[in-house]
Amino acid sequence: MHELSLMNILLDDALNAAAGAPVCALRVRVGPLSGVVIEALRFAFEALIPGTPAEGARLDIEETAPAFRCPHCHATYHPPIGAYECPSCGATDGELTGGYELELISIEVPDHV
Ligand SMILES: [Zn+2]
Repeated sequence: MHELSLMNILLDDALNAAAGAPVCALRVRVGPLSGVVIEALRFAFEALIPGTPAEGARLDIEETAPAFRCPHCHATYHPPIGAYECPSCGATDGELTGGYELELISIEVPDHV
């Protein structure tokens, strides 16, 4: 259950960004290759927020698709699972460049604080 320590880091980032203000929502980007189980991440979030300025906050998770970069025409694309052809030139040796993300994208704080 490494999600607990990962979530702890994301939550720390969010609380630092809020600088002591209450946080109403965290938006996190999770890549399909990050190895993170979304449900475990949500569970960790609920376990960690009581007693922090993020208590009661919402966790928004944005799941990304794997990203490929074509070495021939330099297109960047998101193929469906099992199909890796470049949509521009049809090459099949695209390099995987994304999908491992686990990062805090933004936080929401209440208006007029
Ligand atoms: Zn290409």
